[in-house]
Amino acid sequence: MMPPSRERYHTVVVGAGIVGLFTAYHLARAGVGPVLVVDRGFLSGGASGRNGGGVRQQWETAATVRLARESVDAYRRFGGEFGYNIWFRQGGYLFLAESPNELERLRRVRTVVEREGLRSRELTRSEIPRYANGLELDGVVGGTFLQSDGTLYPFPAIWGLYETVRSLGVEVLLGAEATGVSASQGKVRGLHLATGPVATDAVVNAAGGWSSEFSRRCGLAPSNTPTRHEILATEPLKPFLDPMVVRLSDGLYFSQTMRGEIVGGLTLSHPPGTAPGMPSSARFLRAMSRALTQLVPRLATLGILRAWSGFYDDTPDGLPLIGEDPRLIGFFQANGFGGHGFMLAPASTRRVAQAVLGQPSDLDPALFGPGRFLGPPRERPVEGAQLG
Ligand SMILES: Cc1cc2nc3c(=O)[nH]c(=O)nc-3n(C[C@H](O)[C@H](O)[C@H](O)COP(=O)(O)OP(=O)(O)OC[C@H]3O[C@@H](n4cnc5c(N)ncnc54)[C@H](O)[C@@H]3O)c2cc1C
Repeated sequence: MMPPSRERYHTVVVGAGIVGLFTAYHLARAGVGPVLVVDRGFLSGGASGRNGGGVRQQWETAATVRLARESVDAYRRFGGEFGYNIWFRQGGYLFLAESPNELERLRRVRTVVEREGLRSRELTRSEIPRYANGLELDGVVGGTFLQSDGTLYPFPAIWGLYETVRSLGVEVLLGAEATGVSASQGKVRGLHLATGPVATDAVVNAAGGWSSEFSRRCGLAPSNTPTRHEILATEPLKPFLDPMVVRLSDGLYFSQTMRGEIVGGLTLSHPPGTAPGMPSSARFLRAMSRALTQLVPRLATLGILRAWSGFYDDTPDGLPLIGEDPRLIGFFQANGFGGHGFMLAPASTRRVAQAVLGQPSDLDPALFGPGRFLGPPRERPVEGAQLG
């Protein structure tokens, strides 16, 4: 493993996924220097190379809708800014409800979304085929649809960011494990790498599903927890499906890529923690095949090409941890994105960079601040739309 080229950096980012690389990008664009990004694995080895590519703005919390909306704008500009086509296609997100209660939940989300100026639609069952044909709608009572949501290919987003940050002078070290920080008088003084220490006053914890482990290594009890989620891709078939489809009852989600493959998953409960690694299970293949072919019968004869898994990084209230950790000056949390970090990364990481630079942020610390779970438990807003 190569050691870093310098002894001191302005900021060291731990994790070269979408969150770490976007954070480094915002810092580099702000003229901060020098910035180091370390990742103990390979590019896209974490959730950023294992996700469904969904990008939606339909959330229960207005602040999350705003972050998602700003991120959609960023992904629309991505090709021009980073020189890589991420195939961002705004084919919409279609949510399906199978009970009056589920429909009521979707309506609550829609109220928030509309208040933020986005035009979502409530659909009756008979209107749904206009937005997604080929679905077996027995049991579906209605849904909601937002056209400007969409899907993208995660890999070129990572490649574009990786090349761009390096061209801006950011040093990215792959295969470099961060084992902790050095601190004195409650302030970060440096980062420990397997090759030795590096001096810095700012460390960003963008280690995704492993960020709670890294917080612990730095002496900070985490409030986020990793959970494993499985996903698969089928053989390609002639394009027929524009939106990402999400069913509330079981968390089934799927979209069709521009190559024709169906990519999707559904919520199975696995014990929390990263210890078992990232295998796929026969239980998932059975459950997913059953759910998918029940809703889209034409997929019944289609072969599954690949199945894999990765970690969501969940917080108790479903909102990410963004900003300086009040327990350690110079330690910035950029994690807790659940299963939605790709779609929130461009806007959220701009706020992470602002925090590092000591600039004011429009994010409410009661919603996103890493210190919000410290102290006695109290009633707080919850982002319940943890779907798709
Ligand atoms: C099955 C699945 C489907 C998903 N679908 C979607 C979706 O449709 N849309 C969406 O927006 N999001 C989705 N997500 C979530 C999304 O992928 C993540 O929220 C996002 O990629 C997190 O990015 P990250 O950069 O924080 O973490 P990661 O991409 O996981 O990167 C973290 C990096 O940190 C490195 N690391 C960890 N510990 C250390 C250490 N000690 N030292 C050095 N490096 C370290 C790891 O090697 C890793 O590369 C999905 C996730 C999964 C698993």
